[in-house]
Amino acid sequence: MDSVINILPENVANQIAAGEVVNRPAAAVKELLENAVDAGADRIELHLTDGGRTLIQVVDNGCGMSSEDAERCFMPHATSKLSNADDLRHIRTMGFRGEALASIAAVAQVELQTRREQDETGTRLCIEGNKTTLKESCACAQGTNICVRNLYFNTPARRQFLKSDEIEYRYAEEEFNRIALSQPGICFQLYRNEQKINHLETSNLNRRIIQIFGKSFENRLLKVSEDVPGLKVAGYVCSPDYSVKGRGKQYLFVNRRIIRHGGISNLIEKAYQGLLPEGKSPAFFIHLEMPPQEIDVNIHPSKTEIRFKNQDFICKVLFAAVKFALGVNQVDRIDFESGQPLPYQYRSKSYVPPMPKVNLHPGYNPFTNPAPASTEQDYREAYARNFALMQENMQVNSAPVQLNLDGVEEVQADTKSEGSDTKLTASPAAEEPRIFQIFNSYIITPLKSGLAVIDQQAASERVLFNSYDEPESGSVPSQRTLFPQTVEFSASQTRLLQEIKEDLCSLGWEIEWIGGNSFMVNAMPQGVEESRTQDILEEILSDYTGNPAQTDSEKRQKISMAAAKELAIKHGTPLSQEEILYLTNQLFSGKEPEFSPSGKRVLRILDKSALESLLNRSATGNNSENV
Ligand code: ADP
Ligand code: MG
Repeated sequence: MDSVINILPENVANQIAAGEVVNRPAAAVKELLENAVDAGADRIELHLTDGGRTLIQVVDNGCGMSSEDAERCFMPHATSKLSNADDLRHIRTMGFRGEALASIAAVAQVELQTRREQDETGTRLCIEGNKTTLKESCACAQGTNICVRNLYFNTPARRQFLKSDEIEYRYAEEEFNRIALSQPGICFQLYRNEQKINHLETSNLNRRIIQIFGKSFENRLLKVSEDVPGLKVAGYVCSPDYSVKGRGKQYLFVNRRIIRHGGISNLIEKAYQGLLPEGKSPAFFIHLEMPPQEIDVNIHPSKTEIRFKNQDFICKVLFAAVKFALGVNQVDRIDFESGQPLPYQYRSKSYVPPMPKVNLHPGYNPFTNPAPASTEQDYREAYARNFALMQENMQVNSAPVQLNLDGVEEVQADTKSEGSDTKLTASPAAEEPRIFQIFNSYIITPLKSGLAVIDQQAASERVLFNSYDEPESGSVPSQRTLFPQTVEFSASQTRLLQEIKEDLCSLGWEIEWIGGNSFMVNAMPQGVEESRTQDILEEILSDYTGNPAQTDSEKRQKISMAAAKELAIKHGTPLSQEEILYLTNQLFSGKEPEFSPSGKRVLRILDKSALESLLNRSATGNNSENV
């Protein structure tokens, strides 16, 4: 025998693929609950034993299946929800890929009982490792009752990666909560080890939130509601006196599908700006409804990521709706009688609106065709008039962007350095004239002391690094994927990744070794493009090797540095006004804003004398132009 290569038997190949679809009990819970919702049930029970590893059972009173479909539903790509590619554009159901039951049956022992309304008898079917072991007719209630036993009974390697029952139960419970929040009109019951944990009666969203999260939410839910052609927004944001570390209580549903969307989370957090204590995030429960053809849910198998065709429009409507909810709240909740201070601040205490300041330059004449001015007094008056006019035209805003510049040392411009190309081509956005991006690479903003020029890549590296370095923050925003990605490395990279895996986990990654040189990525920091997972990890590894560490804290720092470098916003990336503000505010409110962790300069402030010498204007102010 000369060949060492085996072709894997089909059942082994299936098991490997299935393990990736159903990577833990919670993933199976999500799929089974979604199937019950899609079946039109209005009562759904979930039973979990030992965190789901021994039993996951879902009982629904939905449409049920015919005897033929009871067998068919376990075949790969079997779905009743889609028949051609065009249907993908109009998806209204939660499922449509037809992979869940096939995957679950490949790695568990499944028993199904199901009956349609029109059938007198139902069907019982047992299937394990994709082999049907029993099929018979039976008497059963209308709907579907599916038991998934001994998950990964035939894939010990995967079973070994399950966490404790307690942790697996929490993941599963979170999926249950999400689906219960997405469908307040359905009655849900949750049993853990045969004990009833939760019974959520048919309700509305407001009461459903309180059923799940408790009475402390009772007076804290502020209604968000907007209805414009093409978009309906409904739900609740929590009043700013409730906030949490991290984004754990942020629920966004699009056409009832739970969605993770960093951009929208940022946007809503921005609507709270100045209302929340630093480092805290708001809680929200928001449903968006829009025509299915306006979204693409098929960009990722977990279907928790989404692309909006008209994101700009959605963001504007949503932002206004949330702002409005928070504003109404302010008026509603001020207790004029008590004389008590408000429970939260609207702006940081240290904020003092700056006085507009005009420095008159007696020798400077702003007119192209100067009227003969006989005295210095005339110049002053003419200048002041003209300045006022100019200000009016520019609509200079008297409450500029709030930048906290404590601790930033001003630097004299190094006039010998290159980059003195003064041809500024980008024009600031009309509504926000005070801070803008040029060459898709630099951020320019006037400060009291001059003009700040910020390198966006170095700034972003600094901001990321600071967020990693904050030992007590512990919540680097991360996106969990139910359908994880497999990445492959060389043997030496594998050793290295094993070594730094745990540290990466605290930076928003969730990486598991699955044997050989393969790893499974279950979660990654927000903003990482999925297609680049492998590349980014490779780059982090190579930055890290070039920089070996002695101590644990040094190791952690090197890893943070490598990760910040790879994930930073690069030169050439256009940024929205919000992103610019977020970046600069983070930069200036953190430590060491002047240099990136790898020592690159982040910003320069061109003070008055630097500008004057840049323009070859002597500091004494005479019009000594020489070109
Ligand atoms: P998908 O949900 O993507 O269609 P699944 O593998 O989850 O794929 O399910 C396959 C098919 O089995 C569904 O399309 C549906 O027709 C049927 N099915 C699954 N669960 C139920 C249920 N609880 N009640 C009725 N039909 C179901
Ligand atoms: Mg499904």
